[in-house]
Amino acid sequence: MTAAAYAMDTDTAPPRPTGAPTVNVWVCLDCGARQPEAGTCRACKSDEVLDARKEDVRALMADVELRLRDRREARMRWGSVAIGVGVVVLLWMIPGYWAARRQVFALPVLMDQWGLMILIAFGVLKIGDRVLAHKRFPYLDEQQHIVD
Ligand SMILES: [Zn+2]
Repeated sequence: MTAAAYAMDTDTAPPRPTGAPTVNVWVCLDCGARQPEAGTCRACKSDEVLDARKEDVRALMADVELRLRDRREARMRWGSVAIGVGVVVLLWMIPGYWAARRQVFALPVLMDQWGLMILIAFGVLKIGDRVLAHKRFPYLDEQQHIVD
């Protein structure tokens, strides 16, 4: 929208109800698809299509999003630890690895190996965070308003 159009819009249009959607007001809780009419979801055929003009429906959407994120983060933490440990254990099986380790970066009580596991796990977590950070309701902002 241009600045002029925006100015005209704010001058003439009545204030929009707080954060409520205007066109695709029906939201599917199961897949996040939006549509203009009630009934079953066009995308996944779920019956859980709710009116996002209602504040409590938007609160419910935020709640669903939060629970999905918690579950995803817990899974990713365990997954990244498993990958960190797995990669280092695989390194141990490479012939010559221990000899090279003694020459290059050996620390007492295998601290270097623990550090390597943590480093790999942390890297996997960071990458996973970017790749898998998929939101069911990307159009719902922090204030539980619909942004089109
Ligand atoms: Zn759906």
